[in-house]
Amino acid sequence: MDNKHKILITGGTGLVGYALKQISKNYESVYDFVFLSSKDANLCNYEETIDVFKKIKPSVVIHLAANVGGLFKNMEHQVEMFEHNVKINMNVVNCAFHFGVKHFIGCLSTCIFPDKITYPICENELHNGEPHVSNYGYAFAKRMLEVQIRTYREQYGVNYMCITPCNIYGENDNFSLENGHVIPSLIHKCWLAKQKNELFVCKGSGKPLRQFIYSADLAHIIMVILQKSFMEIQLPHNIIVSVSEKEEVSISYVAHLIARAFDYEHNLVFDNMSADGQYKKTVSNEKLMELLDDTHFSFTKIEDGINETVAWFEMQKIENIQNLRL
Ligand code: NAP
Ligand code: GDP
Repeated sequence: MDNKHKILITGGTGLVGYALKQISKNYESVYDFVFLSSKDANLCNYEETIDVFKKIKPSVVIHLAANVGGLFKNMEHQVEMFEHNVKINMNVVNCAFHFGVKHFIGCLSTCIFPDKITYPICENELHNGEPHVSNYGYAFAKRMLEVQIRTYREQYGVNYMCITPCNIYGENDNFSLENGHVIPSLIHKCWLAKQKNELFVCKGSGKPLRQFIYSADLAHIIMVILQKSFMEIQLPHNIIVSVSEKEEVSISYVAHLIARAFDYEHNLVFDNMSADGQYKKTVSNEKLMELLDDTHFSFTKIEDGINETVAWFEMQKIENIQNLRL
């Protein structure tokens, strides 16, 4: 009999799913991986979610699927960001439990923490105030995933937990100009501006601060957490996965890095009329670093991660790859 863990990755075609797929190759002899997309099942639909769990029979779930987007998508689609994410999470956690999943990692985000708070923010402060007004639909839906996972964990003693990543970027991000996060949107914009010999416009003042994690680093950390969970190590029910406070950077710094990667820095301007969103959401990664203490992990520098991502994007454009996520 095959005793390999069968790991189902929901959202397996997204930014983080892609990074996990890249490193899953190192673990194929010990685990079976199944990467799910919305084409396999619309997880907003309970029957489709049941069918996919019946078919795949996973023993482990890494739950990444979500309706995700940058500041401007969150502001314009509060209803969908709330409803889709509540439905997806409700269906996936419920089915995982009822189909006997033993290990579950759900994904929150540091943008769901209270807006008015003292820094750095820690895991236990999630429900201590309203999230920022720009993304309250997404934030409250994600907060309910933490509540749902906690209830299953406490009532049934299952090994279910959450991770809370800071802003993520990397290969196979959503490079949409309107709906994407700041790094992929700016990479696409800078590429277009250079093609057309136009100004490269960064929205907002550039002053807000963010912690950014490279998707490959996050994928590595997820695998470390999972392996600790397999060793029956008692893990906290929620761990912030972020670079340190010292590695926080401004949007302006990031825009300059992108412009420099394209050798187009002289044409970068800021559109002060556009929204800035939350000024900052600085988190502590103390708990994570304790967990990684026995590994030799170090975070990819943002300068290197951005260069890698820009190179990847340019390669897709050069090779005219049709499935670039725009
Ligand atoms: P992403 O690139 O936008 O990918 C989203 C994934 O979810 C895709 O695989 C998509 O499938 C799938 N999906 C969306 N709606 C679905 C539905 N109704 N049914 C089934 N699948 C559906 O997202 P990501 O950036 O990798 O985010 C992964 C996780 O990290 C999410 O839970 C997100 O909330 C969290 N997070 C993200 C960030 C960030 O900066 N990106 C920061 C913190 C936390 P298709 O490809 O088929 O559409
Ligand atoms: P957030 O970290 O959740 O706020 O999400 P984003 O990744 O969307 O980052 C938003 C910040 O980047 C705000 O300060 C925006 O003003 C700034 N920004 C600058 N240009 C862009 C852009 O083209 N798209 C997005 N999403 N944000 C941008």
